[in-house]
Amino acid sequence: MTIDINKIRKDFPILEEKIHGKALVYLDNAATTQKPRQVIDKLTEYYYKYNSNIHRGVHYLSNKSTDGNENARAIVQNFIHAKHSHEVIFTSGTTDSVNLVANSFGDRYIGQGDEVIVSEMEHHSNIVPWQLLCERKKAKLKVLPFDDSGELMIEKLDGLITDSTKIIAINHISNSLGTINPIGEIIKIAHARNVRVLVDAAQSIQHKKIDVQELDVDFLVFSGHKIYGPTGIGVLYGKEELLNAMPPWKGGGEMIQEVTFEKTTYNELPFKFEAGTPNYIDAIGLGAAIEYVQSIGLHEIDAYEQELVEYATQKLLTIKGLKIYGTAKEKTSVISFLVDGIHFYDMGMLLDQLGIAVRTGTHCTEPVMQHFKIDGTVRASFSFYNTKEEIDVFYNGILKVCAMFAH
Ligand code: PLP
Repeated sequence: MTIDINKIRKDFPILEEKIHGKALVYLDNAATTQKPRQVIDKLTEYYYKYNSNIHRGVHYLSNKSTDGNENARAIVQNFIHAKHSHEVIFTSGTTDSVNLVANSFGDRYIGQGDEVIVSEMEHHSNIVPWQLLCERKKAKLKVLPFDDSGELMIEKLDGLITDSTKIIAINHISNSLGTINPIGEIIKIAHARNVRVLVDAAQSIQHKKIDVQELDVDFLVFSGHKIYGPTGIGVLYGKEELLNAMPPWKGGGEMIQEVTFEKTTYNELPFKFEAGTPNYIDAIGLGAAIEYVQSIGLHEIDAYEQELVEYATQKLLTIKGLKIYGTAKEKTSVISFLVDGIHFYDMGMLLDQLGIAVRTGTHCTEPVMQHFKIDGTVRASFSFYNTKEEIDVFYNGILKVCAMFAH
């Protein structure tokens, strides 16, 4: 099967919008993806017909919403091939999921003098929760560096690990460089030294097939809104034995078994980690988004997006003074760049006038910018609903901006 681009584009109503009178060229997919009708309709259907708080009701609507929520959990389970559906915890997003692990796992297993390893190319959401934990526990945060092409220096990992290392938190795909990290290899190195691994899949879940059992990953986190689902919903996958051994992080709602003023006991998985009224409608929307992605096929999506990135890279490299940051051999979906003498904000704002949406700045990866001694980049990020014609518009747009700056 190949991508039927015309059919796909019709699924995304926003792609028909005009921006400043120009056809929208949406190249900000790493920040958030647009939503297909199938997801929007599912949300509307539930709000119109079935909305009711879950887990606590005996009535029809409550059962309907509860079933929808648990069905969505099963969809996620199958999508990432988790052994049990209760290993899938719904959170508000990647950031929330990392914070959950940093607080709960961190509380139980990380103490004074222990170590946490992150990489130099992490999103702030996979740095700061660990920094907060390390400050609280007087533990140490260590950093696995990357080289100037944007590839992790894997050969340094074993040397960074010590008997005090408890967890490595690492992204699968970098949101500012596009590098695909060898997470399978990292997990093997870590496990050989008895170290747990959290993989931030925020930028890979929408592009790459992930099998958590095959990878043997301990924790995997991602956001719904980056895989064509709603905002405000995300996933923490964790191995059953780890999640069972971890204390709850937030209290209240469905996470309890029994409450007295003397002692409270906690619910079983996954509810132990889902305090308060869960975001069940958006969980159901996430389920619809995953089904949509599956209906196209991750393999097809990946192959087509790879073609787009290669096409865009070759075109951009012909532009005088343009430098791409992130040239790893294994990379996908993201092109970060600067053009000599043109500030990234100017580039972004002028492209916007042409209807082209790109992101500018540090992309919440300030250490990546520090590595290259720059303040930020322009980032174009691609989805399977983008076309080569849109990349041509983007390329011509950059040329126009360069002409304005007399390049
Ligand atoms: N990790 C990576 C690699 C990301 O790209 C992002 C968002 O851009 C996040 C974490 C944070 O995701 P969220 O803001 O949805 O929690």
